[in-house]
Amino acid sequence: MNQKEYDLHAVVEMKKAHACQSNAWEIIRMGMDIRIKCQKCGQLVLMPRREFEKKMKKVLVKAEAAE
Ligand SMILES: [Zn+2]
Repeated sequence: MNQKEYDLHAVVEMKKAHACQSNAWEIIRMGMDIRIKCQKCGQLVLMPRREFEKKMKKVLVKAEAAE
């Protein structure tokens, strides 16, 4: 029942929608910090992994299809 498994290029939903009303973010960098990109307006957000895990609600699209 782990809905929080995420990987590079997964698309995730955050607990709070973005200002542009979209709530789909692609993970474009993973490390100590996680960089996500808003799928609608393209804005980039960088946050520490711990904060990301707190704010992320669920994975919408898993990364495996990326290749
Ligand atoms: Zn946006």
